[in-house]
Amino acid sequence: MASPAVPVSPLHRPSSFNFTRDVVDHWAQRDPSQLALHWADQSLTSTKQLTYAHFSRQSHRIATLLTSLGIKQGETCIIILPRVPEWWEFATACLRSGVVLCPCTTLLVAKDIEYRLQISHAAAFVGDEASVAKCLSVASKCPQLRTVIKIEANNGSKAPSSQIQQVTDFHAALARIPEDVTFPVPNALTSTSPALTFFTSGTTGPPKMVLHTQISYPLAHALTGIHWLQLDPSKTYWNLSEQGWAKASWSWFSSWNCGSTLFVHDDRLAFDPRRTLKVLHDFPITTLCAPPTVYRQLVLDENRALFETEQGRPRALTHCCGAGEPLNESVIRVWKEMTDGIEIYDAYGQTETVVVCANQAANPVKLGSMGKPIAGVPLTIVDAEGNVTKDGEEGDIAVEVTNGKDEQESKFFGIFEGYIDKATGKIDNKVNTFSNGRRYYITGDRASRDADGYFWFVGRNDDVINSAGYRIGPFEVESTLKQHHSVVESAVVASPDVQRDEVVKAFVVLTDSAAANVKDNGSRDKLVRELQDFCKEHAAPYKYPRKIEFVDAKFLPKTISGKIRRGELKALEKKRYQEANGA
Ligand code: ATP
Ligand code: MG
Repeated sequence: MASPAVPVSPLHRPSSFNFTRDVVDHWAQRDPSQLALHWADQSLTSTKQLTYAHFSRQSHRIATLLTSLGIKQGETCIIILPRVPEWWEFATACLRSGVVLCPCTTLLVAKDIEYRLQISHAAAFVGDEASVAKCLSVASKCPQLRTVIKIEANNGSKAPSSQIQQVTDFHAALARIPEDVTFPVPNALTSTSPALTFFTSGTTGPPKMVLHTQISYPLAHALTGIHWLQLDPSKTYWNLSEQGWAKASWSWFSSWNCGSTLFVHDDRLAFDPRRTLKVLHDFPITTLCAPPTVYRQLVLDENRALFETEQGRPRALTHCCGAGEPLNESVIRVWKEMTDGIEIYDAYGQTETVVVCANQAANPVKLGSMGKPIAGVPLTIVDAEGNVTKDGEEGDIAVEVTNGKDEQESKFFGIFEGYIDKATGKIDNKVNTFSNGRRYYITGDRASRDADGYFWFVGRNDDVINSAGYRIGPFEVESTLKQHHSVVESAVVASPDVQRDEVVKAFVVLTDSAAANVKDNGSRDKLVRELQDFCKEHAAPYKYPRKIEFVDAKFLPKTISGKIRRGELKALEKKRYQEANGA
């Protein structure tokens, strides 16, 4: 097992920890040539190999620059950049100096940036040309914003806002900071000081703002790196998420805690399975993390065929992981066949938590299960009264926050401080206290646990379907459909029904060849029956989708990170029902 820079156990909070000082500087001192980032540009022709020593040095300089610009410890800086090395340089400096980093995605439009600037009360914004232009167009509505930094050659653009006098050109300003300057970690910065804020994916509603401390993500993700990703200094790890999502920070913190090299491809185009395969072929990537939607594409026949050629074969891949959405059993099976035995290790976590449940080296992967709780993490499944459920019984996935006695001692620290309330700016820690005295953070997701302790995802609380008294999780139905050769993906939701209250409805995206065969009502009805019979045969018959609609891939509403927004499809079904029934 890997030895991280700082020994970590889930319930032992260190009184002092600073990621940049204790992790980045540690690896830099141990081996000045150890690579922290292996970066490839958009076209994959130009690369940079940057050491921990490089990030250590740059963080002293950039932290000094931030101070000289008047950005103080505890103030928030929103960062929106493509996948360029400066993102990690800047972020490492924020952690050294205590400036609270708020990473957002480049896909945001000006209105989204305004929402985030206002809720976070950000004093600073750092971005590329495009995101700075969006920021400046809303800056006058965000009076707390004082400093804007552009990480690209300054073309002399004027800031059209009274409170921002000028846009700082990052490289020109940094050139004025001496190479050997040192920036000591401030004494006032403790392990529980704020470090990062993230916005959730917005799958179930407007994105929520989540606050993390200096240890809740930067240190606790060492557990993610050790147990799930199985990283160590010999590994090169590629995660496909863009830095605006918490999952990119899972990767950053887990790989650097373990002394691994983070691989980054500055990809700015829509996902293309062929490009993904090329990257895996061209670079020494040992460890891959991709969302299930990417694996679903990679296992399609045409990509599989490429994968199995000399030009398509990954060069060094040994370990694959997935998270963020349920991972269908059939996808894991095909991937294993394609890769001569590499399994996909599914894991569960949220923006609010580190990875708390995962398939891990110590336990064999059970196809379709998200594995077991990470050792020492107080993760459980509870009923509505806060009692731990029996094996096989569905309930809420919950993290036990404390036993109520020795709070600081027993509190698992890989979890957020709370949501920041938009109106008041106050922090709501979302801990439920039950009448049995137990205190849990209830995740909003449903699962059951089997006799071996493995967790099986059922669905988000709001997505579970109630049909004639049966509770049906969409994930199982989607996974069954995915096993059929005609199906690329599907979204299963509740559809209103007079007799059964709700019935299972599947929106199904067909493969090109299956779609070409659905020419008229007759062939459509035939395929619907075939899929229904298939579901009755491969899962409990009461779960089969009574309604099936074939849709184009673009029809499925997704978050910008690619998750299906089932709530929107459920609302659509309700609307259709009301219109049909004259309500
Ligand atoms: P929002 O909270 O804004 O609605 P979100 O919940 O999708 O969006 P994230 O924090 O990015 O925002 O995602 C966490 C959620 O993703 C989990 O609560 C769970 O529903 C889902 N998820 C994560 N990992 C898995 C997994 N391995 N299997 C099934 N679902 C998962
Ligand atoms: Mg959520």
